[in-house]
Amino acid sequence: AKRNHTDNFEYYAPEIEERTTWQLGMIRQLRNDFADRKLQLWFQPQVDLVTEKVVGVEGLLRWPDGKGGYISPAVFIPLAEYSGLIVDIGQWVLEESCRRIQSLQQSGYVDVRVAVNISIPQFRDRCFVQKVTDALKRFSCPPGRLELEITESVVMDEPQIVIDALNTLKTYGVAIAIDDFGTGFSSMSYLQRLPLDRLKVDRSFVGDITPGKSAVIAETIVTLGNKLGLCTIAEGVETREQAQYMTKLGCDEAQGYLYARPMPFDDLMTYLTEHHQP
Ligand code: C2E
Ligand code: CA
Ligand code: CA
Ligand code: CA
Repeated sequence: AKRNHTDNFEYYAPEIEERTTWQLGMIRQLRNDFADRKLQLWFQPQVDLVTEKVVGVEGLLRWPDGKGGYISPAVFIPLAEYSGLIVDIGQWVLEESCRRIQSLQQSGYVDVRVAVNISIPQFRDRCFVQKVTDALKRFSCPPGRLELEITESVVMDEPQIVIDALNTLKTYGVAIAIDDFGTGFSSMSYLQRLPLDRLKVDRSFVGDITPGKSAVIAETIVTLGNKLGLCTIAEGVETREQAQYMTKLGCDEAQGYLYARPMPFDDLMTYLTEHHQP
């Protein structure tokens, strides 16, 4: 059957409306819960593949659903970005991370980094660089202990804004990681233009270590990172075999359920007393 523009509109409208109502409800709830300080920042350890010592942690947002569970960041981060809420939430994540860096420093974990995910609307904020340096100062953080994680899609969205901001932050000593590497586009040109320290090999290439395409991609990414002088970290390492395989490829670090799941900061401190002698 022939469908003109109007038909399409009528056909899809109810679905769109339902989806929008749901989204608006979620955004309203997120705004309220954020204002009520209900969001939490959890941390997942990152280990050195050779020594198995904790070298860093990634901060990951958790939104309690009020029924004992959590709404996945994969669901609410896009809504926070779309609504602009991510600018304030991201600012809180940044400050919370710097506050935790200060605690880690005071507890003797002076070399443990804290990595923070940054979204594109945060870069569009003209004060972003200032906000980062202010947070570092406010909590007396050595800038090198803070790492910003950027995905390729963030870079592609506003290349010049992102590159300029990262270059400035780099001069302060802040570390920069490219996240989910290999899942986006135009990876190669940005590798050259960004002041990177670390390359995170996406979980999708780490999961399958049987001879095959994803294993070849994992190997190629690790080799590329090493040749560019970057530290490489494998995401989503769940088994001993995966860790051994990534080590064999020359990957430096790993993060995943094999070592630990994301956990509240207090649990992280307990984990560190068992896995990282200061
Ligand atoms: P991501 O940056 O790729 O974070 C890694 C995700 O992989 C986390 O999911 C983590 O819990 C999960 N993960 C870690 N190890 C394993 C493993 O061994 N196996 C499996 N299957 N999964 C593992 P999470 O916490 O659900 O976060 C999802 C995404 O939400 C993150 O992906 C990130 O893009 C975004 N996100 C989380 N927190 C923030 C934040 O503070 N700001 C921004 N902008 N985005 C965030
Ligand atoms: Ca990340
Ligand atoms: Ca990632
Ligand atoms: Ca990923």
